[in-house]
Amino acid sequence: MTIHTATSSYADPALHAQGLFIGGRREPGAGIPVVDPATGQTIADVPNASIEDAMRAVDAAEAAAAGWRATPPRQRSEILRRWFQLMSEHAEELAGLISLENGKALTDARGEVAYAAEFFRWYAEEATRIPGEFRHTPSGSHGILVDHEPIGIAVLITPWNFPAAMATRKIGPALAAGCTVILKPASETPLTAYAMARLGEEAGVPAGVVNVLTTRDPGPVVAAMLADPRVRKLSFTGSTGVGRVLLAEAAKSVVNCSMELGGNAPFLVFDDADLDAALDGAMIAKMRNAGEACTAANRFYVQAGIHDAFVKGLTARMAAMKVGAGSDPATQCGPMITQKAVAKIHHLVSDAMKRGARATTGGAPLPGDGFFYPPTVLENVPVDAAIAHEEIFGPVAAIYRFATEEEAIRLANTTEYGLAAYVYSGDLKRALRVGKGIETGMVGINRGLMSDPAAPFGGVKQSGIGREGGVTGILEFMEAKYYALEF
Ligand code: NAD
Repeated sequence: MTIHTATSSYADPALHAQGLFIGGRREPGAGIPVVDPATGQTIADVPNASIEDAMRAVDAAEAAAAGWRATPPRQRSEILRRWFQLMSEHAEELAGLISLENGKALTDARGEVAYAAEFFRWYAEEATRIPGEFRHTPSGSHGILVDHEPIGIAVLITPWNFPAAMATRKIGPALAAGCTVILKPASETPLTAYAMARLGEEAGVPAGVVNVLTTRDPGPVVAAMLADPRVRKLSFTGSTGVGRVLLAEAAKSVVNCSMELGGNAPFLVFDDADLDAALDGAMIAKMRNAGEACTAANRFYVQAGIHDAFVKGLTARMAAMKVGAGSDPATQCGPMITQKAVAKIHHLVSDAMKRGARATTGGAPLPGDGFFYPPTVLENVPVDAAIAHEEIFGPVAAIYRFATEEEAIRLANTTEYGLAAYVYSGDLKRALRVGKGIETGMVGINRGLMSDPAAPFGGVKQSGIGREGGVTGILEFMEAKYYALEF
């Protein structure tokens, strides 16, 4: 296996906008090194915000709140639309930046920028369609008028795996709804968030409406913000473990929470599936972002009649992937985010192999300074291996064999997670029946990619609470207010 490397760089100085972004001012500082996962080298150092800094960000969001709430929806919409436009114009630079700090292949990074920018376009459109409702009570006693108001100051916390899209998926609806926000991006990937804030400024977002701060100590800093009675919303995307901690923290002040948490997606292939389509879908569902996606296929359940052909086809495709630095245009699978992530992936693979699984390609970390793990296929994985129950978050496809539809549904549901699932079958009726039996918020039917700003994204069980995107996404940042009308 060859590792392709190339010098990481990003060209546009306009996007070098590191520094806490509070009340429209940029405050330089240091304390959090940012590492290029392809080389292990430090490429930047961003400020480490204190609790006092976070409180100043809440002050700034509060100072801007009344003005932004009163800004006509059309005007909010046009600002979001300009931000979409600017992201599109700077797509190459943003993709380079994402690839540099996150490690993902440039093609994945370009895809992320396009996806991320679309949230601003979608919510620019939704900003002008905020719903309301009027009904009569069944008894005819009075009228029910329902308005939707901005919920208030929102704290947005995002992970490192989609540094642009996870931020726009929250900022877009929050701003469209009329809320001001404080974004805390992951410490591993702060540069993209700061660069986007810079573009937001250019798009005309007023000072204080979007504040961005990075901290090495998110526990106390976020807890302090949630304890402030002016903060009314927490929108979190990240692991289920941290989500649980934050739900408990938010409970202290009864802060409204949206939670987009971890996944453990099953990918079901039935005997009657189109093999090539299933393999194409498997490669997208598994290898987008080198497997570092919450929707990544984590468990491949393949029916006995198609099993061997599927393993053979997937092995050939995975083995042919070019691994290397994200910035190298030839790269298809970039490095993992950290050495710790590589160690965790390898622990899961080793455990499965000790229990009888066999690697048909890959199976051990790649040498070098970067954090590389090769595309790996495991067959004959026992259903009680840790890899069946934990998020792999890496380029490893674990394959299990099943016999009947009932068994496939039962296996698919043997997890605390419930984010995404994939079903491949030539019989649409069966695919929908199986989809109905699977406990997830999203199901891909003969399709390996489901994310779209116009669709409600989110999970059930311990994968989360609420939905982002779609026509309901804006309501996560609004409160319904009911007026009882006597007339
Ligand atoms: P993580 O939970 O470690 O961190 C997420 C964010 O929370 C980061 O900004 C981090 O700094 C912050 N954080 C960590 N501890 C905190 C604390 N005590 N208080 C407040 N904030 C804290 O997750 P990660 O490793 O950055 O991301 C990977 C995880 O995110 C995976 O589990 C993945 O499935 C999940 N994810 C889910 C979705 C979704 O939409 N459901 C999307 C992307 C990623």
